[in-house]
Amino acid sequence: MLTDMQIAVLGGDARQLEIVKRLAELDAKLYLIGFEQLAQVISGAVKEKLKDVDFSKIDAVILPVKGTNLDGEVETIFSNENIILTEQTLQETPSHCKIYSGISNPYLDKLVKKADRELIQLFKRDDVAIYNSIPTVEGTVMMAIQNTDITIHQSSVAVLGLGRVGMSVARTFSLLGANVKVGARSLAHLARITEMGLKPFHLENLKDEVKDLDICINTIPHLVLTAGIIAGMPTNTLIIDLASKPGGTDFRYAEKRGVKALLAPSLPGIVAPKTAGQILANILSQLLSEDFENRKENS
Ligand code: NAP
Repeated sequence: MLTDMQIAVLGGDARQLEIVKRLAELDAKLYLIGFEQLAQVISGAVKEKLKDVDFSKIDAVILPVKGTNLDGEVETIFSNENIILTEQTLQETPSHCKIYSGISNPYLDKLVKKADRELIQLFKRDDVAIYNSIPTVEGTVMMAIQNTDITIHQSSVAVLGLGRVGMSVARTFSLLGANVKVGARSLAHLARITEMGLKPFHLENLKDEVKDLDICINTIPHLVLTAGIIAGMPTNTLIIDLASKPGGTDFRYAEKRGVKALLAPSLPGIVAPKTAGQILANILSQLLSEDFENRKENS
């Protein structure tokens, strides 16, 4: 239980509501900042303006998945309030206060360093990334269906990268009956692709491997689908780029050549916000409980 723990939740989307509901069930006291248009009443949670919260009593700050933008602005869909996370706000918090977000950026990194607070990036965790790959794959299947006039079954699909997302994508498209090949650079990944019953290829040979593709799904956060590679693809190939912005595709050249290339960020929040929120709520309730128990033991 999180009885007596005070948590500030700054902005966010429907995913944040799942987190708030779970932490309220655990008896935490929650301050919702940037939620004044939220109609739902959640017992144990109060809506506040940023300036009205006493941050000296806050044990944890929960930011949206994206953290802040590069100017410190926190995105919220339930408010018109301009919420900026500043060094001053963090410095008002007690030294044990941790900051939780999905990812970070140079602004947030610098802010927590200057304020001497710990930032926990949930998406850096293997468990979160693997759970999150499930709605990501479902969104990818949806995009493939919406943007092609063929079935996934019997289609020729290349997946680039065998990380946490790439593995789930490759397995799912194969189970749907596609002929899946996977491009990677490490020998261990090439071995794993073979073990999965899929066709491995080294990324050095990407140019030869794209000649017959219906769908190319990139998960590598690095420019891999260059103009030279795209030039070798059939013009009816669909590129779905899942890698974080700016993706791994030369979108300008793809458009020029007439190859449809879609950058598809944040699919979990789009196709399954409730599940995506529950994934974060599960891990956050665990991390906050551990932190709370440790502090009680040490006090
Ligand atoms: P990951 O586990 O780190 O996998 C990344 C893969 O890319 C690994 O196979 C890695 O291979 C490969 N890679 C990285 N840099 C490379 C390079 N320069 N050349 C060749 N291969 C390279 O990451 P993940 O969790 O699968 O996530 C993949 C991407 O999808 C990330 O950008 C993530 O932010 C994004 N993502 C998007 C969504 C969405 O909704 N679109 C959802 C979740 C995640 P090595 O092991 O050899 O380095």
